[in-house]
Amino acid sequence: MADHDDIRARAEAEILAADSAAALKDIERAYLGKKGEVAGLLASIPSLPAEERPLVGKNANLLKQAIQAALDARGSELEASSLDAERGAGDFDPTLPPRPLDTGSLHPITQVTRELEDLFLSMGYTVLDGPEVERDFYNFEALNIPRDHPARDSQDTFYCDDSGDFSLRPHTSPVQVRAMERLEPPFRVIAPGRVFRHETTDASHEHTFHQMEGMVVGKDISVGHLIGAMKTLLRGIFHREVEVRLRPGHFPFVEPGFELDARCPFCSEGCSVCGRTTWIELLPCGLVHPNVLRMSGIDPEEWSGFAFGLGLSRLVMLRYNIDDVRHLLGGDLRFLEQF
Ligand SMILES: [Zn+2]
Repeated sequence: MADHDDIRARAEAEILAADSAAALKDIERAYLGKKGEVAGLLASIPSLPAEERPLVGKNANLLKQAIQAALDARGSELEASSLDAERGAGDFDPTLPPRPLDTGSLHPITQVTRELEDLFLSMGYTVLDGPEVERDFYNFEALNIPRDHPARDSQDTFYCDDSGDFSLRPHTSPVQVRAMERLEPPFRVIAPGRVFRHETTDASHEHTFHQMEGMVVGKDISVGHLIGAMKTLLRGIFHREVEVRLRPGHFPFVEPGFELDARCPFCSEGCSVCGRTTWIELLPCGLVHPNVLRMSGIDPEEWSGFAFGLGLSRLVMLRYNIDDVRHLLGGDLRFLEQF
Protein backbone atom coordinates (compact mmCIF):
# COMPACT_ATOMS: atom_id res chain seq x y z
CA MET A 1 0.00 0.00 0.00
CA ALA A 2 2.77 2.37 0.98
CA ASP A 3 4.36 1.71 -2.43
CA HIS A 4 1.23 2.89 -4.24
CA ASP A 5 0.88 6.10 -2.30
CA ASP A 6 4.54 6.86 -2.63
CA ILE A 7 4.56 6.31 -6.38
CA ARG A 8 1.40 8.36 -6.83
CA ALA A 9 2.77 11.30 -4.77
CA ARG A 10 6.05 11.36 -6.71
CA ALA A 11 4.32 11.04 -10.06
CA GLU A 12 1.88 13.85 -9.33
CA ALA A 13 4.64 16.18 -8.13
CA GLU A 14 6.69 15.54 -11.26
CA ILE A 15 3.67 16.00 -13.52
CA LEU A 16 2.81 19.31 -11.88
CA ALA A 17 6.37 20.52 -12.38
CA ALA A 18 6.53 19.44 -16.05
CA ASP A 19 6.70 22.44 -18.40
CA SER A 20 6.46 20.79 -21.80
CA ALA A 21 4.75 17.98 -23.67
CA ALA A 22 8.13 16.26 -24.01
CA ALA A 23 8.67 16.30 -20.24
CA LEU A 24 5.21 14.74 -19.77
CA LYS A 25 6.12 12.00 -22.24
CA ASP A 26 9.20 11.15 -20.17
CA ILE A 27 7.13 10.95 -17.00
CA GLU A 28 4.53 8.77 -18.71
CA ARG A 29 7.27 6.38 -19.82
CA ALA A 30 8.85 6.25 -16.35
CA TYR A 31 5.58 5.34 -14.59
CA LEU A 32 3.26 3.77 -17.14
CA GLY A 33 5.70 2.39 -19.73
CA LYS A 34 6.46 -1.31 -20.24
CA LYS A 35 9.36 -1.09 -17.79
CA GLY A 36 7.76 1.62 -15.64
CA GLU A 37 6.98 1.56 -11.96
CA VAL A 38 3.33 0.50 -12.33
CA ALA A 39 4.39 -2.38 -14.57
CA GLY A 40 6.84 -3.37 -11.84
CA LEU A 41 4.00 -3.52 -9.32
CA LEU A 42 1.90 -5.67 -11.61
CA ALA A 43 4.85 -7.94 -12.34
CA SER A 44 5.28 -8.59 -8.62
CA ILE A 45 1.70 -9.90 -8.21
CA PRO A 46 2.37 -13.59 -9.04
CA SER A 47 4.92 -13.76 -6.22
CA LEU A 48 2.43 -12.49 -3.61
CA PRO A 49 0.21 -14.63 -1.38
CA ALA A 50 -3.01 -15.50 -3.23
CA GLU A 51 -5.31 -13.51 -0.92
CA GLU A 52 -3.36 -10.28 -1.46
CA ARG A 53 -3.25 -10.47 -5.22
CA PRO A 54 -6.71 -9.05 -6.08
CA LEU A 55 -6.28 -5.98 -3.93
CA VAL A 56 -2.79 -5.22 -5.16
CA GLY A 57 -3.95 -5.68 -8.74
CA LYS A 58 -6.91 -3.37 -8.24
CA ASN A 59 -4.81 -0.70 -6.57
CA ALA A 60 -2.22 -0.89 -9.32
CA ASN A 61 -4.93 -0.23 -11.88
CA LEU A 62 -6.34 2.67 -9.85
CA LEU A 63 -2.83 4.10 -9.60
CA LYS A 64 -2.40 3.76 -13.33
CA GLN A 65 -5.69 5.60 -13.96
CA ALA A 66 -4.81 8.36 -11.50
CA ILE A 67 -1.43 9.00 -13.11
CA GLN A 68 -2.94 8.95 -16.58
CA ALA A 69 -5.62 11.47 -15.50
CA ALA A 70 -2.96 13.76 -14.01
CA LEU A 71 -0.89 13.52 -17.22
CA ASP A 72 -3.92 14.38 -19.37
CA ALA A 73 -4.91 17.33 -17.19
CA ARG A 74 -1.40 18.81 -17.19
CA GLY A 75 -1.16 18.20 -20.97
CA SER A 76 -4.34 20.22 -21.64
CA GLU A 77 -3.09 22.99 -19.36
CA LEU A 78 0.22 23.26 -21.22
CA GLU A 79 -1.54 23.30 -24.59
CA ALA A 80 -3.92 26.05 -23.51
CA SER A 81 -1.15 28.25 -22.15
CA SER A 82 0.92 27.93 -25.33
CA LEU A 83 -2.15 28.93 -27.39
CA ASP A 84 -2.64 31.93 -25.11
CA ALA A 85 0.95 32.94 -25.70
CA GLU A 86 0.42 32.71 -29.46
CA ARG A 87 -2.67 34.86 -29.23
CA GLY A 88 -0.84 37.65 -27.47
CA ALA A 89 -1.06 36.53 -23.87
CA GLY A 90 -4.82 36.58 -23.56
CA ASP A 91 -5.54 39.68 -25.72
CA PHE A 92 -7.27 37.51 -28.26
CA ASP A 93 -10.97 38.25 -28.43
CA PRO A 94 -12.83 35.56 -30.41
CA THR A 95 -15.96 37.74 -30.60
CA LEU A 96 -14.30 40.40 -32.79
CA PRO A 97 -15.54 40.46 -36.42
CA PRO A 98 -13.03 39.13 -39.01
CA ARG A 99 -10.92 41.52 -41.04
CA PRO A 100 -12.58 42.22 -44.39
CA LEU A 101 -11.10 40.23 -47.29
CA ASP A 102 -9.04 42.09 -49.88
CA THR A 103 -11.16 41.88 -52.99
CA GLY A 104 -8.93 43.48 -55.63
CA SER A 105 -10.18 45.51 -58.58
CA LEU A 106 -9.81 45.77 -62.33
CA HIS A 107 -6.72 47.53 -63.65
CA PRO A 108 -7.54 51.02 -64.98
CA ILE A 109 -6.44 49.94 -68.47
CA THR A 110 -8.83 46.99 -68.30
CA GLN A 111 -11.63 49.27 -67.11
CA VAL A 112 -11.17 51.79 -69.93
CA THR A 113 -10.68 49.02 -72.51
CA ARG A 114 -13.94 47.37 -71.48
CA GLU A 115 -15.83 50.67 -71.57
CA LEU A 116 -14.54 51.37 -75.07
CA GLU A 117 -15.33 47.84 -76.23
CA ASP A 118 -18.91 48.27 -75.01
CA LEU A 119 -19.14 51.62 -76.75
CA PHE A 120 -17.87 50.31 -80.09
CA LEU A 121 -19.90 47.12 -79.88
CA SER A 122 -22.98 49.33 -79.53
CA MET A 123 -21.96 51.01 -82.81
CA GLY A 124 -21.73 47.70 -84.64
CA TYR A 125 -17.98 47.12 -84.37
CA THR A 126 -16.38 43.73 -83.77
CA VAL A 127 -13.61 43.37 -81.18
CA LEU A 128 -10.58 41.55 -82.56
CA ASP A 129 -7.42 40.13 -81.07
CA GLY A 130 -4.11 39.24 -82.71
CA PRO A 131 -0.70 37.78 -81.93
CA GLU A 132 1.81 39.83 -79.93
CA VAL A 133 4.71 38.16 -81.70
CA GLU A 134 4.08 39.15 -85.29
CA ARG A 135 5.61 38.63 -88.73
CA ASP A 136 7.33 41.42 -90.60
CA PHE A 137 4.68 41.28 -93.31
CA TYR A 138 1.84 42.14 -90.91
CA ASN A 139 3.85 44.54 -88.75
CA PHE A 140 5.18 46.64 -91.62
CA GLU A 141 5.03 45.50 -95.21
CA ALA A 142 1.26 45.17 -95.54
CA LEU A 143 0.91 48.56 -93.83
CA ASN A 144 2.82 50.25 -96.63
CA ILE A 145 5.89 50.71 -94.43
CA PRO A 146 8.86 50.07 -96.71
CA ARG A 147 12.17 48.49 -95.72
CA ASP A 148 13.95 51.81 -95.24
CA HIS A 149 11.21 53.46 -93.16
CA PRO A 150 12.41 54.74 -89.75
CA ALA A 151 9.61 52.84 -87.98
CA ARG A 152 11.48 49.66 -88.85
CA ASP A 153 14.60 50.81 -87.09
CA SER A 154 15.76 48.10 -84.72
CA GLN A 155 16.17 50.89 -82.19
CA ASP A 156 12.39 50.93 -81.90
CA THR A 157 11.44 47.31 -82.50
CA PHE A 158 12.15 44.22 -80.41
CA TYR A 159 13.20 41.61 -82.94
CA CYS A 160 12.82 37.99 -81.89
CA ASP A 161 15.53 36.50 -84.08
CA ASP A 162 18.31 37.41 -86.52
CA SER A 163 16.15 36.85 -89.58
CA GLY A 164 14.14 39.97 -88.71
CA ASP A 165 10.97 38.18 -89.68
CA PHE A 166 9.51 37.99 -86.19
CA SER A 167 9.20 40.85 -83.71
CA LEU A 168 7.05 41.95 -80.81
CA ARG A 169 4.39 44.06 -82.49
CA PRO A 170 5.23 47.78 -82.17
CA HIS A 171 1.57 48.76 -82.78
CA THR A 172 -1.83 47.08 -83.00
CA SER A 173 -2.07 47.80 -86.74
CA PRO A 174 -1.18 44.23 -87.85
CA VAL A 175 -4.57 43.16 -86.48
CA GLN A 176 -6.12 45.45 -89.14
CA VAL A 177 -4.25 43.61 -91.85
CA ARG A 178 -5.39 40.25 -90.55
CA ALA A 179 -8.97 41.59 -90.41
CA MET A 180 -8.83 42.77 -94.02
CA GLU A 181 -7.53 39.36 -95.11
CA ARG A 182 -10.22 37.49 -93.28
CA LEU A 183 -13.34 39.69 -93.45
CA GLU A 184 -15.46 40.63 -96.43
CA PRO A 185 -16.23 44.37 -96.59
CA PRO A 186 -18.14 46.19 -95.27
CA PHE A 187 -16.85 45.74 -91.71
CA ARG A 188 -16.00 47.72 -88.57
CA VAL A 189 -13.41 46.44 -86.14
CA ILE A 190 -11.42 47.52 -83.13
CA ALA A 191 -8.35 45.78 -81.74
CA PRO A 192 -7.18 46.72 -78.25
CA GLY A 193 -3.94 45.21 -76.97
CA ARG A 194 -0.37 45.40 -75.74
CA VAL A 195 2.40 46.76 -77.92
CA PHE A 196 6.16 46.93 -77.42
CA ARG A 197 8.87 49.48 -78.23
CA HIS A 198 12.59 49.30 -77.68
CA GLU A 199 12.79 52.62 -75.88
CA THR A 200 14.44 54.25 -72.92
CA THR A 201 11.72 54.59 -70.33
CA ASP A 202 10.73 57.83 -68.65
CA ALA A 203 7.55 59.48 -67.38
CA SER A 204 5.97 59.43 -70.82
CA HIS A 205 7.71 56.42 -72.44
CA GLU A 206 7.36 52.78 -71.54
CA HIS A 207 8.62 49.65 -73.34
CA THR A 208 5.18 48.02 -73.03
CA PHE A 209 1.96 49.97 -73.41
CA HIS A 210 -1.57 49.67 -74.76
CA GLN A 211 -3.18 50.80 -77.97
CA MET A 212 -6.53 50.41 -79.58
CA GLU A 213 -6.67 50.17 -83.31
CA GLY A 214 -9.89 50.87 -85.14
CA MET A 215 -10.88 50.40 -88.76
CA VAL A 216 -13.99 50.79 -90.86
CA VAL A 217 -14.20 49.62 -94.46
CA GLY A 218 -17.30 50.32 -96.52
CA LYS A 219 -18.75 52.23 -99.46
CA ASP A 220 -17.85 55.92 -99.73
CA ILE A 221 -16.26 56.22 -96.29
CA SER A 222 -15.12 59.81 -95.79
CA VAL A 223 -13.27 62.03 -93.35
CA GLY A 224 -16.71 63.05 -92.03
CA HIS A 225 -17.35 59.46 -90.88
CA LEU A 226 -13.95 59.46 -89.21
CA ILE A 227 -14.62 62.67 -87.26
CA GLY A 228 -18.06 61.43 -86.23
CA ALA A 229 -16.62 58.18 -84.86
CA MET A 230 -13.86 60.02 -83.00
CA LYS A 231 -16.31 62.43 -81.36
CA THR A 232 -18.43 59.50 -80.19
CA LEU A 233 -15.30 57.84 -78.84
CA LEU A 234 -14.31 60.93 -76.84
CA ARG A 235 -17.82 61.42 -75.54
CA GLY A 236 -17.68 57.85 -74.26
CA ILE A 237 -14.39 58.43 -72.47
CA PHE A 238 -14.94 61.87 -70.97
CA HIS A 239 -18.73 61.64 -70.63
CA ARG A 240 -19.35 64.94 -72.38
CA GLU A 241 -19.01 66.61 -75.77
CA VAL A 242 -15.32 67.15 -76.64
CA GLU A 243 -14.27 69.51 -79.42
CA VAL A 244 -11.78 68.00 -81.89
CA ARG A 245 -9.58 69.29 -84.70
CA LEU A 246 -7.62 67.56 -87.43
CA ARG A 247 -4.10 68.52 -88.47
CA PRO A 248 -2.37 66.96 -91.45
CA GLY A 249 -0.07 64.12 -90.42
CA HIS A 250 1.94 61.66 -92.45
CA PHE A 251 1.59 57.92 -91.79
CA PRO A 252 2.40 55.42 -94.52
CA PHE A 253 -0.81 53.41 -94.16
CA VAL A 254 -3.27 56.30 -94.52
CA GLU A 255 -3.89 58.89 -97.21
CA PRO A 256 -4.78 61.55 -96.27
CA GLY A 257 -3.41 61.16 -92.76
CA PHE A 258 -4.25 63.32 -89.75
CA GLU A 259 -3.31 64.02 -86.19
CA LEU A 260 -6.47 64.35 -84.18
CA ASP A 261 -6.36 66.79 -81.27
CA ALA A 262 -9.00 67.08 -78.59
CA ARG A 263 -9.84 70.20 -76.62
CA CYS A 264 -8.18 69.80 -73.22
CA PRO A 265 -10.80 68.34 -70.86
CA PHE A 266 -9.07 69.82 -67.79
CA CYS A 267 -8.96 73.52 -68.56
CA SER A 268 -10.26 76.34 -70.73
CA GLU A 269 -7.17 78.56 -70.74
CA GLY A 270 -4.23 76.15 -70.75
CA CYS A 271 -2.77 73.85 -68.10
CA SER A 272 0.23 71.57 -67.59
CA VAL A 273 -1.56 68.60 -69.17
CA CYS A 274 -2.10 70.37 -72.50
CA GLY A 275 1.14 72.34 -72.31
CA ARG A 276 -0.83 75.64 -72.17
CA THR A 277 -2.21 75.10 -75.67
CA THR A 278 -5.72 73.90 -74.66
CA TRP A 279 -5.32 71.07 -77.22
CA ILE A 280 -4.18 67.51 -76.55
CA GLU A 281 -2.63 65.41 -79.30
CA LEU A 282 -4.67 62.24 -79.10
CA LEU A 283 -4.40 59.95 -82.06
CA PRO A 284 -3.14 59.45 -85.57
CA CYS A 285 -5.85 58.57 -88.05
CA GLY A 286 -6.82 58.88 -91.69
CA LEU A 287 -8.39 57.23 -94.69
CA VAL A 288 -6.89 53.81 -95.39
CA HIS A 289 -4.22 54.01 -98.11
CA PRO A 290 -5.32 52.30 -101.35
CA ASN A 291 -2.07 50.28 -101.33
CA VAL A 292 -2.94 48.87 -97.92
CA LEU A 293 -6.41 47.84 -99.11
CA ARG A 294 -4.97 46.33 -102.27
CA MET A 295 -2.27 44.37 -100.41
CA SER A 296 -4.95 42.71 -98.32
CA GLY A 297 -7.07 41.81 -101.34
CA ILE A 298 -9.66 44.61 -101.11
CA ASP A 299 -10.41 46.60 -104.28
CA PRO A 300 -9.77 50.32 -103.51
CA GLU A 301 -11.95 51.28 -106.52
CA GLU A 302 -14.94 49.75 -104.81
CA TRP A 303 -14.19 50.16 -101.09
CA SER A 304 -12.73 52.82 -98.86
CA GLY A 305 -12.17 53.11 -95.14
CA PHE A 306 -10.76 54.96 -92.20
CA ALA A 307 -8.41 53.83 -89.45
CA PHE A 308 -7.21 55.23 -86.18
CA GLY A 309 -4.65 54.23 -83.57
CA LEU A 310 -5.64 55.26 -80.09
CA GLY A 311 -3.00 55.39 -77.36
CA LEU A 312 -4.94 53.60 -74.63
CA SER A 313 -2.25 54.11 -72.01
CA ARG A 314 -2.20 57.83 -72.72
CA LEU A 315 -5.97 58.01 -72.55
CA VAL A 316 -6.03 56.22 -69.20
CA MET A 317 -3.44 58.71 -67.92
CA LEU A 318 -5.60 61.61 -69.09
CA ARG A 319 -8.75 60.13 -67.65
CA TYR A 320 -7.29 59.48 -64.18
CA ASN A 321 -4.75 62.30 -64.14
CA ILE A 322 -1.77 59.93 -63.88
CA ASP A 323 1.54 61.74 -64.31
CA ASP A 324 3.89 58.83 -65.07
CA VAL A 325 3.19 56.04 -67.56
CA ARG A 326 5.47 53.69 -65.61
CA HIS A 327 2.89 53.52 -62.80
CA LEU A 328 0.53 51.62 -65.11
CA LEU A 329 2.54 48.41 -65.36
CA GLY A 330 4.76 48.93 -62.33
CA GLY A 331 2.72 46.48 -60.24
CA ASP A 332 2.76 48.71 -57.16
CA LEU A 333 -0.32 47.82 -55.09
CA ARG A 334 -0.45 51.30 -53.53
CA PHE A 335 -1.12 52.63 -57.03
CA LEU A 336 -3.46 49.85 -58.17
CA GLU A 337 -5.62 49.89 -55.05
CA GLN A 338 -6.80 53.41 -55.93
CA PHE A 339 -8.94 52.09 -58.78
ZN1 LIG B 1 -5.37 71.95 -70.39
